[in-house]
Amino acid sequence: MKKTLNKYIKEIIKTGSSAVKFIDPKKVMVGNWVRLKCQFGCDAFGTRLTCPPYSPTPEYTRQMLKEYSSALFFTYKYPALKERKKRQSIRRILAKLEREMFLDGFYKAFAMGAGPCNLCPEKCDLTKPCLHAELARPSLEACGIDVYATAKNAGVNLKVVKSYKDTPTYCCLLLVE
Ligand code: SF4
Repeated sequence: MKKTLNKYIKEIIKTGSSAVKFIDPKKVMVGNWVRLKCQFGCDAFGTRLTCPPYSPTPEYTRQMLKEYSSALFFTYKYPALKERKKRQSIRRILAKLEREMFLDGFYKAFAMGAGPCNLCPEKCDLTKPCLHAELARPSLEACGIDVYATAKNAGVNLKVVKSYKDTPTYCCLLLVE
């Protein structure tokens, strides 16, 4: 499988990723506590259709991960506030990769990104379906994934961002079977 995924690794690198790693889905860590950080700490909680309480629960994610045999964990480093368009482009990159994998025969491919969906300029209209369901993907953390522990398992040294001056690392996951 690793050899087969090399094509996608090359493509991810071309998009400006700072690191691309193979990870066994068994090493993608899920915690019930992760949702607490969304609910009590993120002002996007309940405002985006890709975020809790609309995103997959930790229990759903645990079960779902068992249905995959491989994954790619990859990161982007973009300044938090200045480069909104770049951050927005991550979701487009993910959707493109997922689609390409699907068309290549990996029909279960599923991509996950980082942070609240920012494809629309305004908050989601929660009374209506997502305006860009073909592009919008939940973040790892929105699904209960412990991003720090998972990064460590993938061999990525992820540090806590301590100031708005620091450059955050956006973590993505591409599940494949
Ligand atoms: S694409 Fe728009 S409507 Fe859909 S989750 Fe993202 S911001 Fe909300």
